[in-house]
Amino acid sequence: MAIRFIVTAPDPILTKKCRPVENFDERLWTLLDDLKDTVEAANGAGLAAPQVAVLKRVCVVDTDDGFYELVNPVLKSASGEQRGVEGCLSVPKKYGTVTRPMKITVVACDRYGKSHKYKVEGFTARAFLHEMDHLDGIVYTTIAEDLEDEKD
Ligand SMILES: [Zn+2]
Repeated sequence: MAIRFIVTAPDPILTKKCRPVENFDERLWTLLDDLKDTVEAANGAGLAAPQVAVLKRVCVVDTDDGFYELVNPVLKSASGEQRGVEGCLSVPKKYGTVTRPMKITVVACDRYGKSHKYKVEGFTARAFLHEMDHLDGIVYTTIAEDLEDEKD
């Protein structure tokens, strides 16, 4: 277990599309453990593999609803709408407003390759979608309607 270095914008790694995980091996488990350590140390709501320079479809989400490990996540359905503020560990000291679905269903594998269905809403849905965007090389700053500096 280790805290990894977080890549920050405009590093081109953050704009790359990630490859699916095929091997559910110790290398993946170490990545997931490190993502957890790193997001906890940074006090974030989630972290995706490309943010630690690994171009695989892996991310973690950490909200009041729980801690989620998502491998090869796929959005199955979405409904409703929410407008809210987002930040990103790869874009320090900025925030912006993003409109996203209110409720989503996501299918993803766990670290052993077993498929699970997640029905989440509100802030957790926002965190899922923010992290899943990273796997397609999308940083929220490119879809936010505004971008502001964090005030102290
Ligand atoms: Zn982010």
